[in-house]
Amino acid sequence: MTATAPITQDVVTIPRKMPEGTVNLVGLTRDAMRDALIAIGTPEKQAKMRVGQIWQWIYQWGVRDFAEMTNLAKDYRAKLAENFVIEIPEVVSKQVSEDGTRKYLVRIAGGHEVEVVYIPEEGRGTLCISSQVGCTLTCSFCHTGTQKLVRNLTAGEIIGQVMMARDDLGEWPKQGAPKDETRLLSNIVLMGMGEPLYNFENVRDAMKIAMDAEGIQLSRRRITLSTSGVVPEIARTAQEIGCQLAVSFHATTNETRNMLVPINKRWNIEELLAALKSYPKVSNSERITFEYVMLNGVNDTDDDARRLIKLIEGIPAKINLIPFNEWPGAPYKRSSNNRIRAFADIIYKAGYASPIRTPRGEDIMAACGQLKSATERERKSRRQIEADAGL
Ligand code: SAH
Ligand code: SF4
Repeated sequence: MTATAPITQDVVTIPRKMPEGTVNLVGLTRDAMRDALIAIGTPEKQAKMRVGQIWQWIYQWGVRDFAEMTNLAKDYRAKLAENFVIEIPEVVSKQVSEDGTRKYLVRIAGGHEVEVVYIPEEGRGTLCISSQVGCTLTCSFCHTGTQKLVRNLTAGEIIGQVMMARDDLGEWPKQGAPKDETRLLSNIVLMGMGEPLYNFENVRDAMKIAMDAEGIQLSRRRITLSTSGVVPEIARTAQEIGCQLAVSFHATTNETRNMLVPINKRWNIEELLAALKSYPKVSNSERITFEYVMLNGVNDTDDDARRLIKLIEGIPAKINLIPFNEWPGAPYKRSSNNRIRAFADIIYKAGYASPIRTPRGEDIMAACGQLKSATERERKSRRQIEADAGL
């Protein structure tokens, strides 16, 4: 670790404003829910069973009203309703792309907004969720990084994005209906706004809920967390979450990576690779995804491709090439298709899968690195319109 000043700023988690004493059950771990139930007078002996029942209503059946929890006594349901709420972020707008990609803008406590993207694919569907409003890191190619305001999302706001999408997709199972194995929402990627490993506990608690066998039931193999390289949290991710890991690699020399992903000044390529080496074993996962954004003339030469292969030697890896998604004022251009293909070819010949990520939902600005920025722009243009109209 080099002796530079920390790049992160402190970010705060502002709790939801609710009538005094009311607690949102969404996002609580099983243990925390148990404590909350005991605090309202649930006998300790029954608490674990009550958690199991309430958990299933919330996360298996998508129920938001205590009155519908019919296996609980009526007066107990009333008591729950007096003390607790079951709340998820509110959908402010929804856009559907020509290719079926859905982009939601959701509002969280304090009036902040984050974006969530649903990407339908053949036989599966991926939800790209956010972990922070904005991002404290300032990767030079990412528009989210130019946003000033940052706050951590609570675990409830993170899992709430998944619940919101299940609502919109109509995917809560019906009681008594045969179990449907094909899922519209089958995968989660933490690739929306924010650096998930700077909000570790909340991300962990939310993903534990997503994986819980009595609720949403997504296998840890279907959850991918993308990090810019917060080295000290990588081992913890393996131990405490155990999901798939993607890393925003993007460069093959420290000089270039310092410029593109400034967290590299704190933990450089060598330190990052050392942390990644033990990830698959500790988490019992298969391969690490190396994300690599293709920037014209910056990181896209044949030499870069060869250096990349050398660097990742010995790590079970997949390389995901992301054509740069341009945004107004961006200091880079997307590499040409020929350049991307030539780069991919070198990697493929070295024995690595190297899919080129097709940008989805381009017409609604839903692609990687464009999140929120579009909304910010819309706001600006609305303000502009108002100014032009002399309002
Ligand atoms: N903060 C995390 C996760 C969110 S970004 C991280 O950086 O890994 C998800 C992916 O999109 C990252 O690999 C990020 O580097 C990439 N990305 C950001 N801006 C982009 C852009 N304009 N075009 C293409 N990819 C971009
Ligand atoms: Fe933050 Fe990731 Fe964007 Fe970097 S690429 S600024 S870490 S969201």
